[in-house]
Amino acid sequence: MSVSTASEKQSSWAILEKRAHERCALRGTKLTPLRLSVLRALWSANEPVGAYDLSDRVGIEAGGRRMAANSIYRVLLLFTELGLVRRVESRQAYVVARDGDPGSDMFFLCDGCGAVTAIDQPQLAALLTSQASALGFRPHHQVVEVAGQCRTCAESQSIKEQT
Ligand SMILES: [Zn+2]
Repeated sequence: MSVSTASEKQSSWAILEKRAHERCALRGTKLTPLRLSVLRALWSANEPVGAYDLSDRVGIEAGGRRMAANSIYRVLLLFTELGLVRRVESRQAYVVARDGDPGSDMFFLCDGCGAVTAIDQPQLAALLTSQASALGFRPHHQVVEVAGQCRTCAESQSIKEQT
């Protein structure tokens, strides 16, 4: 697991915030304070967060007022369409999207600690596209999620097995 420094963390938020402003503007809409706080809460979570949990987190940042889950869902839907956020289907939760082709995302989900690692694999998108076209299949949505154990959990299990 990589640990980013405070300044790296700050600049990654600045980049994300700028991207969010740009994508909203392209869509002819605005990054409202609510939308911004949803994005900020998701970004600071560093793990997939469900809409209800997110509404608590946004509420805490906004001084204790819990946001309606419906409002959060609408924001998440918009962000998903804009490619700012991805839904982790098997967790019914959301993560901040990497800035790449959504078709090339792979999620590795740890059953032990819940960690999610997203990697960008352009060959995956190419493979799925070519397989789909060979079948005459028109995909509208694709998700690749791999369940298992992260390195830390796998190592701690093998230590337990040895003792
Ligand atoms: Zn783990």
